[in-house]
Amino acid sequence: MNEDVNILGGGISGLACAIILRKNGHDVNVYEKRSSIGARFNGDWQGLENWSEKIDVLEQIRSYAIDTSSFDYTSLSKLDIHYSNKIRTLQQKNACYFLKRGNCEECLDTNLCEQAQKLGVNIHFNSSPDESTPIHVNATGPKNKQILAKGIKFTTKHEDVYKMGFGSEFAKGFYSYLVIRDGHGTISTVFHHEDAQHSNKYLQNTVDYFSKYLDKGDLETGHKFGGYGAFEIKDSFYDENGAMLIGEAAGFQDYLWGFGMRYAFQSGYFAARSIMYGESYSDLIKDNLLQKMRHSKRNRSIFETMGPLAYPLAYYALSSTKKPLKLLNLIYR
Ligand SMILES: Cc1cc2nc3c(=O)[nH]c(=O)nc-3n(C[C@H](O)[C@H](O)[C@H](O)COP(=O)(O)OP(=O)(O)OC[C@H]3O[C@@H](n4cnc5c(N)ncnc54)[C@H](O)[C@@H]3O)c2cc1C
Repeated sequence: MNEDVNILGGGISGLACAIILRKNGHDVNVYEKRSSIGARFNGDWQGLENWSEKIDVLEQIRSYAIDTSSFDYTSLSKLDIHYSNKIRTLQQKNACYFLKRGNCEECLDTNLCEQAQKLGVNIHFNSSPDESTPIHVNATGPKNKQILAKGIKFTTKHEDVYKMGFGSEFAKGFYSYLVIRDGHGTISTVFHHEDAQHSNKYLQNTVDYFSKYLDKGDLETGHKFGGYGAFEIKDSFYDENGAMLIGEAAGFQDYLWGFGMRYAFQSGYFAARSIMYGESYSDLIKDNLLQKMRHSKRNRSIFETMGPLAYPLAYYALSSTKKPLKLLNLIYR
């Protein structure tokens, strides 16, 4: 008989790992310190990127035996990029999938939690295991704050809108965005932790710029949110107690743009494989994720080295190609 597998943290990575293990016959406990799943998020839209690998990301998740048919997502096929009052529309089928994050009914986190519970994963809320419980997988999310986000989530009657803004005035070194789908909107700016003191200015400039695409009074319905993310290429993928580190607890995140959800699913899957088949977790990460991480770090260094030139270059490169996804895929190789 297998011993129970104990996972600390009930975010995407922990739940993905738990679902895969449970489907493989393991008894699994997830210890979540908060009172609900997804409490770190606020029902804001997040993009599951579909460019860093050739395989479609939803197909990849399904290949791990996670059910995506009940995910409430929208596929992004048209994105307006704004730079210096110029706008270009990128068209590319399934460039990314937008999902809501948080503890709302239609949120990804809730969906994964339901999948796990239906299979019989024991999720212990408001709970930390006692000291005698061995932890096999550490999925506790980011510890360091390299990338910050600040935004407003709101409701609206406005039609769907997908917009990304480049420019130091609203997101130095990164980007800002406005996403409206089915009456739910998110407006946000993403920036480096070193620029935290400018966060209010970035958000205000983003709101001022994108407000022409909102209906009057939309933001009055809103809730402000903030968050942070970690990027780190670690020497070891185990914590001090020997548990496998997955998701952002391991620093797994795309460093160019700050996308961590795909890494969370992937690393959850590799940890499960290590438990199911005795494969080395370190080798799985080295063989499958490390190169992509290094390339995202290289891409960020190039972006930062170019300084003010980076935005026009990224804007024109992305908007002049007929295949933006292919271009993005190239830079991760
Ligand atoms: C505002 C914002 C916007 C983002 N937008 C995007 C995006 O558009 N696309 C994208 O791909 N990524 C995005 N990200 C990053 C993405 O959300 C994360 O990379 C992803 O959620 C990481 O999943 P995880 O499972 O590693 O960690 P988390 O989702 O953070 O889950 C960790 C869980 O562990 C729990 N926990 C922590 N410590 C303990 C403990 N000691 N004991 C028990 N439980 C514990 C926490 O409560 C939490 O539930 C964004 C992040 C933020 C903050």
